[in-house]
Amino acid sequence: TPMIVAIDGPAGSGKSSVSRRVARALGFGYLDTGAAYRALAWHALQHEIDTSDSVAVLEVAGDFDLGIALDPDDQRVRVGAVDATEAIRTPDVSDAVSGVARVPAMRQAINAMFRTLVQDSGRRGVIVEGRDITTVVFPDAPARILLTAAPEVRAARRAAELSEHDAADIAASMQRRDASDSTVVDFLTAAPGVTIVDSTDLDLDATVEAVLAVVRA
Ligand code: C5P
Repeated sequence: TPMIVAIDGPAGSGKSSVSRRVARALGFGYLDTGAAYRALAWHALQHEIDTSDSVAVLEVAGDFDLGIALDPDDQRVRVGAVDATEAIRTPDVSDAVSGVARVPAMRQAINAMFRTLVQDSGRRGVIVEGRDITTVVFPDAPARILLTAAPEVRAARRAAELSEHDAADIAASMQRRDASDSTVVDFLTAAPGVTIVDSTDLDLDATVEAVLAVVRA
C-alpha cells in the first residue's frame, strides 16, 4: 500500500501547487480531491438540477463516471466522455460545489472512491489534498499537514491564478465557499497529530521545503 501524505487547507492556501511540487519531488502520485468534488458539481450543473437539493444530487451521482489520473504532471479530469479539466474551474462550478459537497451520503461514496483510487494506484506514495483528508479520509496517514495562510494572501493568490476575474469577486466567492465548507468539515484547526504549515510569509519553494521537512520527519 502506498505511503500517504494528507494535506488539508482552505481555498487559496496553495494546496494544489504545493502538493503537485511535493509529489514530483518525492516521485509520488497526487490526488486533488477538490477536483473530484468540482467534477461532481459540474456533472450536476450539466443535469440542470438544483445543487442545494440533496436528493437530486444523489440521483445524478448515480451516473457520475469520473476519470482522474494520480499523476502530478497530468491533472486532466474526465467526466463520462467529456474532458472537463477547464470547465471545473469556472466560477459557476466554484459557486455550486459546496452544495454538492455537503450531502453526507455523497461524501461517504466519494471518500470510498478516493481510498480505492489510492490503494489501486500502484504507486509508492500519494499526496492526497483536500479539506478532510487528515481527519476523515486518511486519519492514519504517517504525514498529515494543515496548510494555512492569511485570508488576504489567499485571496491575492487566487486572483493571480484567475486573472480574468475581478479580485474583489474572487475574495467574496472564496469567503462564501470557506464559510459554507467549514460548516461541513473543519479545515481551519489542526486535529491532534496534524502539523500546521503557515505559508503567509513563504514563497512556493519555501512552502514545498516546509512540507517536505514534515514528510521526512
Ligand atoms: O480544493 P478546491 O477549492 O478545488 O475544492 C473545491 C470544493 O470541493 C471545496 O470548496 C469543498 O466544497 C469541496 N471539497 C470538500 N472536501 C474535500 C475537497 C474539496 O468538500 N476533501
